Amino acid sequence: MASDREARQQIVQIVNELYRDGHLTSTGGNVSSLSGDGETIWITPSGLFKGALDENSLVRIRADGSSVEGSNKPSIEFRMHFRAYEARPGSTGAVHTHSPIATAFGICNQTFEPINTDAVALADTVTLPWLMPGSSELADAVFDALQTSRGAILQNHGLIAVGDDLRKAATRASMIEETAKLTLYVKQFGGTVSLVPEAGIERLASITDFI
Ligand SMILES: [Zn+2]
Repeated sequence: MASDREARQQIVQIVNELYRDGHLTSTGGNVSSLSGDGETIWITPSGLFKGALDENSLVRIRADGSSVEGSNKPSIEFRMHFRAYEARPGSTGAVHTHSPIATAFGICNQTFEPINTDAVALADTVTLPWLMPGSSELADAVFDALQTSRGAILQNHGLIAVGDDLRKAATRASMIEETAKLTLYVKQFGGTVSLVPEAGIERLASITDFI
């Protein structure tokens, strides 16, 4: 597990990358990392512009949202982050993004067909119906969805991804967005769609579990 200092540095780095790549909007989306004590998390603050966060903007909170370090108000989605760590023991990083193509993919009830390697890896991604942002109902639904996958799409909202470390969580979020984009391109071409054959899917399954 990363030290608290490393965790904070990595959150800022990942927020900057996700903001640059359009996964986070000015105030939408949030990123967290499990603290060294295994019980509190470092998380991005609520309402602050995502394009200019620094380590001092972050807050360390308990599961009830109370602050341990930092003076900013934590993201309203803190419950969802805690439940994500609970759902996947061993995870130490979680990202919630408002990635636009993945969000549209979920709104249109699309699923990941085996069109490439990443799509095969993401076949277990659950799409949840709309639930009130910040609510414990959403956090509980995320807990259930993450039993079978490291990522879930939140209809009319965005997505959440967890990982053994924060880098892996961010990678999975990017994979979901990029694969939703590829699905969109495939549908726009509109010709006969060639999928990865069944035997290939089985072989890929053994090498796509790393993320
Ligand atoms: Zn959100």
